[in-house]
Amino acid sequence: MAYKETKEGPAVCKRCLKRIRMIKKTQGKLEAVNPDPVGFVQIYSPNGYDRYVLEDGRSVYGRSVRHGEQPTEYGYVPHKYTCEAKPL
Ligand SMILES: [Zn+2]
Repeated sequence: MAYKETKEGPAVCKRCLKRIRMIKKTQGKLEAVNPDPVGFVQIYSPNGYDRYVLEDGRSVYGRSVRHGEQPTEYGYVPHKYTCEAKPL
């Protein structure tokens, strides 16, 4: 694992050195997410949509907001989807 942090809160990705945040998921595991929440449109199906982590640790699916649209939720993008470090 690229993330050794065992506590919730701000951290740094050891591979790309960007700021991340460790968030505790509902199953009790920690996940590294990008620290700034983003608005998205929640979709009640995982098929082909992106996963976001909510403030309370739930994982939901959705897509980015299109022009002129209002987000239905705010959440965090899992860092592994945007990490710029090359895969090991
Ligand atoms: Zn990274």
